Amino acid sequence: MSKVVVIGSGFSGLASASFLAQQGLHVTVFEKNAEIGGRARVFSEDGFVFDMGPSWYWMPDVFERYFSEFGKSAKDFYDLKKLDPGFQIIYGENDLLTIPASMTELMDEFERIEKGSSKQLEKFLKEAEFKYNVGMKELVYKPAYSWFEFANLEVLSGVLKSNIFSSVSTYVRKYFKDERLIMLMEFPVLFLGAMPNQIPALYSLMNYSALVQGTYYPMGGMCKIIEGMKELAESLGVEIKTSEAINSIDVVDGKVKGVKTNLGQYETDGVIASADYHHVEQKLLPTELRNYDETYWKKKTFAPSSLIFYLGVNKKIGKLLHHNLFFDADFSQHSKDIYEKPQWTKEPLFYVCCPSKTDDSVAPEGMENLFVLIPIATGLEDNDEIRESYFAPIIKRIEKFCGESFLENIIYKKSYCVKNFVNDYNAYGGNAYGLANTLKQTAVLKPSLKNKKVNNLFYTGQLTVPGPGVPPALISGQIAAKELMKQLKNKSNEAVI
Ligand SMILES: Cc1cc2nc3c(=O)[nH]c(=O)nc-3n(C[C@H](O)[C@H](O)[C@H](O)COP(=O)(O)OP(=O)(O)OC[C@H]3O[C@@H](n4cnc5c(N)ncnc54)[C@H](O)[C@@H]3O)c2cc1C
Repeated sequence: MSKVVVIGSGFSGLASASFLAQQGLHVTVFEKNAEIGGRARVFSEDGFVFDMGPSWYWMPDVFERYFSEFGKSAKDFYDLKKLDPGFQIIYGENDLLTIPASMTELMDEFERIEKGSSKQLEKFLKEAEFKYNVGMKELVYKPAYSWFEFANLEVLSGVLKSNIFSSVSTYVRKYFKDERLIMLMEFPVLFLGAMPNQIPALYSLMNYSALVQGTYYPMGGMCKIIEGMKELAESLGVEIKTSEAINSIDVVDGKVKGVKTNLGQYETDGVIASADYHHVEQKLLPTELRNYDETYWKKKTFAPSSLIFYLGVNKKIGKLLHHNLFFDADFSQHSKDIYEKPQWTKEPLFYVCCPSKTDDSVAPEGMENLFVLIPIATGLEDNDEIRESYFAPIIKRIEKFCGESFLENIIYKKSYCVKNFVNDYNAYGGNAYGLANTLKQTAVLKPSLKNKKVNNLFYTGQLTVPGPGVPPALISGQIAAKELMKQLKNKSNEAVI
């Protein structure tokens, strides 16, 4: 039986591990941290349970497709709840847009803001559905070694019909005039790590997920997905070793032969690296075996880092929903501070997640669990003083919107920022979400899934194809596993099992 190593236990690492184990390989996952889950780890303190990273569960069909590959369903592992309303956007004092789960109600909301916009919404979402079907069911499952993979006529015509060469920003403005609707329709692509004017209009497929499929929540938290994936992986025989970091990948004659960790040395027939790509290449491989050098990484557009506050509040806060976007500041200035001239922004947009609105298990009775996230540029100076300077003003803005104070009710507080991303995940520049999905960083133009000099070493996760986010990480793990399997079968000219 062939033995393979997976570096990292985030979504992509666990996904690839299960696919490889399903093929009969002996798979060991090495995770540097004490807990599994990577950027989707969880911690509990004083009765509060905090998901550390992702909180938006979109594209439920991708999760379902993943589990169905193993004859399972998401509901075998967690209880998924559709949120209604899905989320709210706060534009200013008494200026608010709530996104209902029902399409009829959503159309009414659009009409209230801009006359005639509900018809435009219908047209927009019809195109978004088409793009979703081409994008999420066809394009993203390809390893993207070459443009020829996309040359099948149906896919090609789908790509062309998807306005790939126009930006989301231009595209949205063809449909809507009101700035609030424009912000709503542009918001989903912020998950892809760049400004809407840099993201190909193909990604308006995200609106299909956000507005038509809806926003979901696994009861117990996003950590339940990781728990489910662990259960699945272990049922297939995957061995997971935590607190064991890979320190080097040993290559002989263009083939990985083994890995060294802080605790030992292991032989292997192949490696899938789901830790941050830059870290794997620059720290675990010798110079001559890397796909890319430092200059390459410096030129890349990274998705932002974040300043996060995890807060426990000893009372209920009336006006917050589960997902709250505070877009009550200058969007263009904040984005310039992230992408054009990286610096700490003065008045940021931010996001507040309050899962205790949906789930009693994440906070003690009568209390709220808050996760406040401010997107910031990667590589910024990070210290307690800077973090703290954002805290009181942000709380004030939330209090103003809520019409009640709760600063004095905060009984638990922890911050997380650039330094933590670097220390905890070996994240380049402390990036939170990997590489941005700009046109120049899409498909074949992303860092390659395959190491071109070492034939049994593959990369997976948010810095390679298809891109950042939980659903893409699941897909990435599947593609990498398939490619390593092909390689192992090729080498011996027969199945490895
Ligand atoms: C704050 C935040 C909010 C987010 N919100 C959302 C959201 O709402 N919805 C959504 O879909 N996505 C969201 N994302 C993005 C999503 O969480 C990520 O894209 C996804 O979790 C990345 O998974 P991954 O497997 O690629 O990487 P990771 O989760 O980073 O996994 C890589 C693993 O490798 C480990 N590792 C690193 N170096 C080594 C080493 N040398 N040896 C062993 N192990 C090592 C790391 O510790 C880590 O566990 C968010 C991300 C963050 C940070």
